[in-house]
Amino acid sequence: MRGIGAGLESGLNGFAFERARVRRFDLIIVGGSFAGLACARTAALRGLKVAVIERKRDPGEGVRTTGILVKEAAEEADIPSHLTRLVRGVRLYAPNGKFTDHSSAGYYFLTTDTPNLMRWMAEEARRAGAELMLGTAFKRGEQDGVAVTLPDLGLSARLLVGADGPTSMVGRVFGLSANTRFLGGVEFELEPEPALDGRFLHCFLDSELAPGYIAWAAPGVGVTQVGLAARHGFRPDARKFLEVYRRRLDLPERRILARRSGLIPAGATLTRTFVGNVVLVGDAAGHVSPMTGGGIVQTLRLGRRTAQLAADWINAGGEHPGRALQREAPRFRAKRLLRRALDLAPPNWIWNLAVGTAPFRAFAQGVYFHQRGQAAAADGSSPATSLERREN
Ligand SMILES: Cc1cc2nc3c(=O)[nH]c(=O)nc-3n(C[C@H](O)[C@H](O)[C@H](O)COP(=O)(O)OP(=O)(O)OC[C@H]3O[C@@H](n4cnc5c(N)ncnc54)[C@H](O)[C@@H]3O)c2cc1C
Repeated sequence: MRGIGAGLESGLNGFAFERARVRRFDLIIVGGSFAGLACARTAALRGLKVAVIERKRDPGEGVRTTGILVKEAAEEADIPSHLTRLVRGVRLYAPNGKFTDHSSAGYYFLTTDTPNLMRWMAEEARRAGAELMLGTAFKRGEQDGVAVTLPDLGLSARLLVGADGPTSMVGRVFGLSANTRFLGGVEFELEPEPALDGRFLHCFLDSELAPGYIAWAAPGVGVTQVGLAARHGFRPDARKFLEVYRRRLDLPERRILARRSGLIPAGATLTRTFVGNVVLVGDAAGHVSPMTGGGIVQTLRLGRRTAQLAADWINAGGEHPGRALQREAPRFRAKRLLRRALDLAPPNWIWNLAVGTAPFRAFAQGVYFHQRGQAAAADGSSPATSLERREN
């Protein structure tokens, strides 16, 4: 009897010990980048107990993005100005070197010191109360209708948010939709190039080097970022473009300081982005414009929104965050069609003919400046003059 009792007792103690070892959170976020950190900060500020699992030891290491913020993204997060550089317009080059300038009154882009921006966002999330578990990879998880448990890590939460990028492991483990169409991007950070006109993002149309997308040279924060991306299945050659860029703009050779590369989801928002107590957000959910490949604005907006929805769901019995997010996320229907057209990669002679024509100017203005650009064009002022007026 005693033996059985002792066994039972030690069994119960073992069970209690196991239970005690599982750390419980309201929200566990996998991925400490734009979407995950935006979500973590807001959730923690709203009083949720939050953990962020990030496999990198330093959130600023090995960034996989050019990190340019459109104005709408800049409005989602109040980023310290020393981490950004304001760029007013876009200079768009045809393969033959002809170019047109585009801008819109009041509009801008921010290039960023992306590694330090990531570190700043991580610190902001931590300051708000989120616990950052760096150097920790998500591999496995289970859910039972009440909570999600990560047995390898001894963690559980009411809601698990997969903000783990374009090839999301959270999505795979929980049987959610996966991105299947991508753009592939690669870029070099070069020593700063003073001769590059800093008022513009320099965008190069060239279907031989970057079929389905563009190449670019961006005046960054303390660096010049030179890279390109291309449609699914084409391997972009950044060194080749570097040569073309120097030759076309008659620039000297500059030292390469770092290299960035990565996949950009190009198939639009996925269909199945939540199940039970698991939700995907950001690139993991395909929240990226299939036409421009810009994802940061959505990751910041929907990352933060996920946190608000989670807080309402946990604290006030609000709608399931996954369901609400699926309704609120952009569908990108028109942009999906435009992506198909761009994937056809018109031959370079067509770009040479098109760049500079009125319809193409209007199209480029719409792509880069959305409604605001069109509004500015509609007031009769040329976009190029509007930039000159501002700069002079
Ligand atoms: C070359 C390139 C250039 C781009 N340029 C721009 C641009 O200029 N402007 C723009 O708006 N968009 C740009 N994009 C798109 C933009 O970078 C993405 O939309 C954005 O980074 C997505 O953020 P995210 O937080 O959803 O995912 P990610 O930034 O991909 O972050 C995912 C995070 O999850 C972590 N992680 C992954 N798996 C695990 C795991 N199993 N366990 C723990 N952690 C994990 C990763 O380490 C990473 O930190 C670019 C993309 C590429 C590839």
